[in-house]
Order: sequence, then C-alpha cells, then structure tokens
Amino acid sequence: MTAVKSLPVYSCGHVHLIDAYERADDHSQTLSWAATTLPCSKCCREGLMSLDLSPQVYVNLQQLSPGMAAFVIEVSEVVQPLDGVLDLTGYSRRAPSKDELHPGGDAFDVPCAVWRKEYWFANETEPMHVIALLRHLKQEMRWLETYLPAGERAVHFADFVPPNN
Ligand SMILES: [Zn+2]
Repeated sequence: MTAVKSLPVYSCGHVHLIDAYERADDHSQTLSWAATTLPCSKCCREGLMSLDLSPQVYVNLQQLSPGMAAFVIEVSEVVQPLDGVLDLTGYSRRAPSKDELHPGGDAFDVPCAVWRKEYWFANETEPMHVIALLRHLKQEMRWLETYLPAGERAVHFADFVPPNN
C-alpha cells in the first residue's frame, strides 16, 4: 500500500477520511480535491438533513445524437452547498430528462431543475471501454453518495427523475 502524502482539507476544517480516500480510484480522488473550497461531505449531508432534503441521483444511458450515446447522471433536490460541489466537479444545471431518447434541455423556467453530468462515447466504442467508463462512473457514485443523507440508497441506476419531482 502506498502511503498517502496529503489528504483534502475542506472549508469546514475537516480532513477527508483516509480509509475512503485510499479506497477511491484516481478519478474519485480528483473529484475530492476539486471541492475543498466547500464544506466536507459530512457537513454537507448534515446541512441537507436539517433542511429535510434528500437529493436523489439517477444514472442512465441515453442516445444523445445518431452516433453518440452517453452515461448521464442527474441529481435532484440540490441546494447549497451541494450545488457548489457539483458545479466544481463538472455538473451543470439542466431540466430533468424524460427517458433514454428525451434528454432534458435548458434549465430556464424549470422549477425542478437537476444537476447533470454526461459521459459521452461513440456508438462503435469497444464494449470493454464502455465497461471501463461504467466502472469510473460507479466510483464517482461512491464519492457522491457520501454527500447524500440517504447515501447509497439515493443512487438509482437505469432510472429517471420521477415526473413532478
Ligand atoms: Zn466538515
């Protein structure tokens, strides 16, 4: 095991848990470092709980153009400081997607906007590369769920934000 030289320290003063950091892959470690200007996942989770909010995450596969598909992550019920964490880690505010063929559009005038991130790949991509991408994404979910009051139970694969959520 390689010794961890330094760990992310967040704006609340808390340090990233060493166990969680060592279990994370490079991708998720990078995500942790990107959000250190904001409170840590535990403080963020407690803030959401005090507001009685429970953001849910929907991960699915969408056909975004004739030659390209994407793994799409959408997060509902997001408030500060989680919106900042998502903003710093590549998510943007969009309307929720309806299904595999109807991605959500701009977030203007949408009361139930979500935070979305897309991992695009060409239709002819080798399956092993798609699987590697999926593995990447699962690691990202292990990171994101630490911010959520419902943890792992808030992450839904192959599912969409329920209508009127
Ligand atoms: Zn903290």
